[in-house]
Amino acid sequence: MKMNVLIEKQDLFFFRPVFQERIWGGTQLKKNFNYEIPNDKIGECWAISAHENGPSVVANGECKGLTLSELWTQQRHLFGNLEGEKFPLLTKILDAKDDLSVQVHPNDTYAQINENGELGKTECWYVLDCEEDAELVLGHNAQSKAEFLSTVEENKWDEVLRRVKIKPGDFFYIPSGTVHAICKSTLILETQQNSDTTYRLYDYDRRDDNGNLRELHIEKSMDVIIFPHVDANPVRNEYQQEGTLITEFINNEFFSVERWKVTATTNLSNNNPFILASVVEGAGSISINEETHSLIKGSHFLIPFYVKEFTIDGKMVIIASHV
Ligand code: ZN
Repeated sequence: MKMNVLIEKQDLFFFRPVFQERIWGGTQLKKNFNYEIPNDKIGECWAISAHENGPSVVANGECKGLTLSELWTQQRHLFGNLEGEKFPLLTKILDAKDDLSVQVHPNDTYAQINENGELGKTECWYVLDCEEDAELVLGHNAQSKAEFLSTVEENKWDEVLRRVKIKPGDFFYIPSGTVHAICKSTLILETQQNSDTTYRLYDYDRRDDNGNLRELHIEKSMDVIIFPHVDANPVRNEYQQEGTLITEFINNEFFSVERWKVTATTNLSNNNPFILASVVEGAGSISINEETHSLIKGSHFLIPFYVKEFTIDGKMVIIASHV
């Protein structure tokens, strides 16, 4: 659908989530977020996505029914006329009932050349919920590619993979080239570059319902893994703004991600090309130009460039991101 008219009146864009079945998925997206999910193996909720493998559709206002990609191509002023062929970010919620494969993602340069112009994938995780003693795979212990390969050849995965304990509220930054895996009993909100390129390194020799192993991508993985592993410890910045405690988890060339812990009325300003936001706890409202929209846990929305001021209220936690 080609829109010749410039959208100027719609001040907030809610999106309908897209659900993706995964062999490691479960039912937390229904239990925890009250979403209608199509079956009991849903691993991913693509909450705000302009990726062709799961495009978000606007759920309200004059743009209802349009995809985020259509807005990006035809209404670029909503995003402050930001340049780029592809919308830069993707927000997901991941329900890992079982372990995800151990994987690594390429950077922009490698993906452009080897994956038909895809973007690279740098991502970050906010732990929404997990069982006690839950952990993640983050990084590896090999000093070199040769050491990594020889340890893996002896099937000593436990030796080569680094594991970290996690708890709700933790934040992890995973630059491209980092070996990683989300492990079982974990619910995570992921903010990432808009890419679907994953190199699977190890899948615990697990078989699907038809008895098949999933494909591994050892050669490409070895091309992109960084040796030795370097821990990314972004500096956290926290401040109180009226009724909201704002925690900046990361702010770099790929994205900025913040947590807003709202407890009372707060006036905020938007100095970015756009803001993506997801309510992950509680409920409340957002007011723009005297219009109030209610927010519930599981609401995902975009604040466009031309909305410079807005007011949030209620008792809720929001994860917000922008470029
Ligand atoms: Zn990943």
